[in-house]
Amino acid sequence: MSAVPVAPREPLRYQPPSIAGPAYPLTDKQRTLLDIAARLGREKFAARAERYDREASFPFENYADMREAGLLRICVPEQYGGWGADFTTYVMVSAELGRHCGSTALTFNMHACSGMWSGFIADDLDMSDADRATHEKHRAVHYRRIVEEGKVYSQPFSEGGAAAAGKAPWGTLARKVDGGYVVSGRKIFASLSGAADYYGILCTVDKPGATLRDSLYLAVPADAPGVSVTGDWDPLGMRGTVSRTLILKDVLVPDEARLMPEGMYAQAAMRWPHMFATLSPTYMGIAQAAYDFTVQYLRGEVPGMPPVKRRMYPTKQITVAEMRIKLEQTRALFLRNAADARVDPPKDTRMAIYAAHYSIMEAANEICRLAVRTCGGQSMLKTLPLERMYRDSRCGSLMLPWTAELCLDRLGRECLYEPGERDEEALQ
Ligand SMILES: Cc1cc2nc3c(=O)[nH]c(=O)nc-3n(C[C@H](O)[C@H](O)[C@H](O)COP(=O)(O)OP(=O)(O)OC[C@H]3O[C@@H](n4cnc5c(N)ncnc54)[C@H](O)[C@@H]3O)c2cc1C
Repeated sequence: MSAVPVAPREPLRYQPPSIAGPAYPLTDKQRTLLDIAARLGREKFAARAERYDREASFPFENYADMREAGLLRICVPEQYGGWGADFTTYVMVSAELGRHCGSTALTFNMHACSGMWSGFIADDLDMSDADRATHEKHRAVHYRRIVEEGKVYSQPFSEGGAAAAGKAPWGTLARKVDGGYVVSGRKIFASLSGAADYYGILCTVDKPGATLRDSLYLAVPADAPGVSVTGDWDPLGMRGTVSRTLILKDVLVPDEARLMPEGMYAQAAMRWPHMFATLSPTYMGIAQAAYDFTVQYLRGEVPGMPPVKRRMYPTKQITVAEMRIKLEQTRALFLRNAADARVDPPKDTRMAIYAAHYSIMEAANEICRLAVRTCGGQSMLKTLPLERMYRDSRCGSLMLPWTAELCLDRLGRECLYEPGERDEEALQ
């Protein structure tokens, strides 16, 4: 009897998992959007990331792909032609993008948040009927630009003072004039500088005694007279964000430039704190990518490299186990944090956000550090992505308003003080 022919077995290879982990019950919309992000990331962004990093250049090609795939309208509400992604859906997609190109994911966050903040976050805020009606009219303008024209928005807030930490009014001022505002100021670290079509800046309405409550969120056209970009950009990591300095000198913008009514940003910052937790998903993605790379490297499966296996050494197994434990901890916090996002979260939830944000940012860097150490010398050559992930991951903890230091600051204080409590009262 002749032997039954057996098809040659495909060699087993490591299959990187879903960013949400194996058991997460994804909705159809989440699966669709994650598939788009994963396909673009794997097939296009991963290969381009090295060049953007080397040149410190903006990922224009990636944005063209995201525009074509409809991703730019991810946080635009459905009634305006967008995907209407909720918080959890958005952060998962952001993390998936971060697996392939950190700079693309981080800059995409600035764009997507313009839709999110003016969308479902603004819907949860208290405003007068008149303000609501005007907001509806204005945001329709911005959403049409994103949906129909594929325009890109950014969020240059930082000024180098205490404002971006939420501790002082913005130094950039908007003077009310008939039909609009005249804006002047300076923004540092303006990611997408020279690339965005609209800079979504935070400023203060110029009036005597203005406070944090007089904030204003305005979309300034990049080509408006008085807008310029200065300074160089040659940083440690996240080099493709091209975060140069933005100068605004007597820039006239119409009323419809308002992405939120006057004062609403301050209300959002107080009542919807997860709005700032959208920066960490990029780093969740980097953490997953560093882990995936390490497994592939130790299994001898990195494309373009000789198939040398290093997995049999117990010390490497222990390090991968440590990385996996950190990754699972980080993912659990990431998913719980997303599920908790809502207006007016209780104090314990607010504290959990700081803890999750801090942990994701720091764990990403720690996982990258372990990856470099265990993979070894060849793994940190610039021909491989790990050293870029390592550098990119370091930047997470530096981002205001919730730098690692400020998360500790806020969390420590809130652990020990109830609202309005002072030491004198506490001692009585
Ligand atoms: C890659 C990258 C991209 C960025 N993109 C953007 C962007 O698109 N838009 C944007 O607005 N910003 C962006 N930033 C800027 C970022 O959010 C911070 O504003 C910037 O990194 C802060 O610079 P700094 O450390 O010099 O700030 P500093 O104000 O000097 O703060 C230094 C540190 O001191 C602490 N600190 C600051 N203020 C206080 C305070 N009042 N109380 C206690 N501690 C405080 C914080 O831990 C802070 O990290 C980006 C940063 C990076 C690294």
